[in-house]
Amino acid sequence: MTESEHVDTPKSNLLGMTRSQLETLFLDMGEKKFRAAQVLKWIHARGVNDIDAMTDLSKVLREKLKGRATLDVPEVTYDATAKDGTRKWLMLMPGGSAVETVFIPEANRGTLCVSSQIGCALDCSFCSTGKQGFNRDLSAAEIISQLWVAAKALEGTSERRERRITNVVFMGMGEPLLNFDHVMAAIDLMMEDNAYGISKRRVTLSTSGVVPAIRAMGDHTDCSLALSLHAPNDALRDEIVPLNKKYGIAETLQACNDYLSNLADKRQLTIEYTLINEVNDELTHARELAELLRNTPCKINLIPFNPFPNSGYERPSNNRSHRFRDELLAAGYNVTIRKTRGEDIDAACGQLVGRVEDRTRRSERYIKAVQIGSTAAEMASARGRIGRA
Ligand code: SF4
Repeated sequence: MTESEHVDTPKSNLLGMTRSQLETLFLDMGEKKFRAAQVLKWIHARGVNDIDAMTDLSKVLREKLKGRATLDVPEVTYDATAKDGTRKWLMLMPGGSAVETVFIPEANRGTLCVSSQIGCALDCSFCSTGKQGFNRDLSAAEIISQLWVAAKALEGTSERRERRITNVVFMGMGEPLLNFDHVMAAIDLMMEDNAYGISKRRVTLSTSGVVPAIRAMGDHTDCSLALSLHAPNDALRDEIVPLNKKYGIAETLQACNDYLSNLADKRQLTIEYTLINEVNDELTHARELAELLRNTPCKINLIPFNPFPNSGYERPSNNRSHRFRDELLAAGYNVTIRKTRGEDIDAACGQLVGRVEDRTRRSERYIKAVQIGSTAAEMASARGRIGRA
């Protein structure tokens, strides 16, 4: 194919291309495959967003590449750091939708929580994102751009930069397994040595249980897996996670266990369980959960519900959360209660965007505040107006 024949072909965004996709692109251009690794290093290890900055590619090759591809990164419209060090970004994606990404620093690791969709179709009853409905899938470039922006902001642009992002979890907006191809491509880049080189044990896909996709995952990746369970029986889970009506708990746990047992190394399933006051946090629920997970190698992460307007749910007291945890500890499980982080910047999943996209006319004042890069105080004031609406 000649260069002129490519004129009307839509250009790919290099940001979201895996090593094998880049190799195919270069071969197609009559170039050597090793160019792919060079480009990956420029973009992901050095944080470059300009093809002309890739100085180990000749000027002629750079021009050729520009004829076939773009290098587009999102605009960051909100960037705030909470008192506890939690940092949150809101990125404006094509079409005007906002996506949120959160970095959570801890003593021995730094976790980036990324989004896979704008909104979510699954409508879990406790979830602020679910209340916004589904807007669209994110492209691979839009998913990996969250890591690109965060790594650049936290680690600078040197190739020998200190790693602050040690873990990535798909626990932001969206159900990652309903955006399968793009999520798999982004995971590939997260683990790729020439890009971010994050260990497969430290990239965790969290799903509410899309069984056919869990079964398909093993052909594409060996990342870690978390299941958003939130209830110890089908009747209750049907209410909290409506997807359960399609794929029940037994079938879902079986798919997760099969995925993990086919990995080359031994890994546990992470069970996420949002504790909702007097809904799923009774001692009987803890005992039922202990029984349910008896044959599943797992660790359990309890997440006290984070209230948002009109949720209809309450957060349990610390006493109730601890009682639930202690029951599971006594049954021999490895259990943690997730600490609330970044409350002063609305760091919980979907909260900030939830307020941006609450579908009221009043929210437009807040969107405007975000878009014009207002101060934190102005944004807090705009949020307050929406919250009281
Ligand atoms: S919890 Fe996850 S899967 Fe459920 S509605 Fe929220 S984003 Fe979607």
